[in-house]
Amino acid sequence: MKIIASNFKTNHTRKSTQEFCDALESFLSHKSIPHKVAVFPPSTALLENAFKHFSIGAQNAYFVQNGSFTGEIGLEQLEEFSIQTLLIGHSERRFLGECQEFCAQKFAYFAKQNFEIFYCIGESLNTKNQGLDSTLAFLESQLQGIDLSYPKLIVAYEPIWAIGSGVSATLDEITQVHTRLKQKLGKIPLLYGGSVKPQNTSEILSLNGVDGVLVGSASWEIESFCQILENSF
Ligand code: PEP
Repeated sequence: MKIIASNFKTNHTRKSTQEFCDALESFLSHKSIPHKVAVFPPSTALLENAFKHFSIGAQNAYFVQNGSFTGEIGLEQLEEFSIQTLLIGHSERRFLGECQEFCAQKFAYFAKQNFEIFYCIGESLNTKNQGLDSTLAFLESQLQGIDLSYPKLIVAYEPIWAIGSGVSATLDEITQVHTRLKQKLGKIPLLYGGSVKPQNTSEILSLNGVDGVLVGSASWEIESFCQILENSF
């Protein structure tokens, strides 16, 4: 079983998310795709997590039940939709100011709530250019404070330089990093993300140490996401 997830980022409305999810449910009910599938819509478009063939997850939430945190949503808002899956540590959130300690606090809170957590790590081009050891040291720093024995943890390796660029890391680059990360992560599922698209899904998923993919732009059109799923086995 692989894990295939779609991160909508700041795309789609509630209406188009509903259409996308209805179409995805119909597609998955006609195919026997042996994978775990998750969709992360923006928070204004969260839908009841009641689809049979995939989960709805949240791209972000604050580590609180409720309270005075303008612009944030907390556990109460997720519970209203029975959401139990959360993305933490995405490079775009880190870029917006979330430091490692904040990511770790978020992780600790939602792990305590028994959430499934997709936890993202990834290096900049500058770090990549310093070599594999520097890259690994940086990636390990992004795991600081994260309980790697948490059973509902999924890690996504998403090199920042490959995200949204249209050009994924090469198969060799993915293999090198995943092999080293697996030594630290053991049995924790490890996804790759960064310009995954229908054309490269199959070869990326066939690599040793790749347990799935986290997809941004190529997952926003239902036809393209279904094609990725078609190519995933
Ligand atoms: C992402 O941001 O999680 C991502 C993988 O984006 P893209 O597929 O567009 O590179």
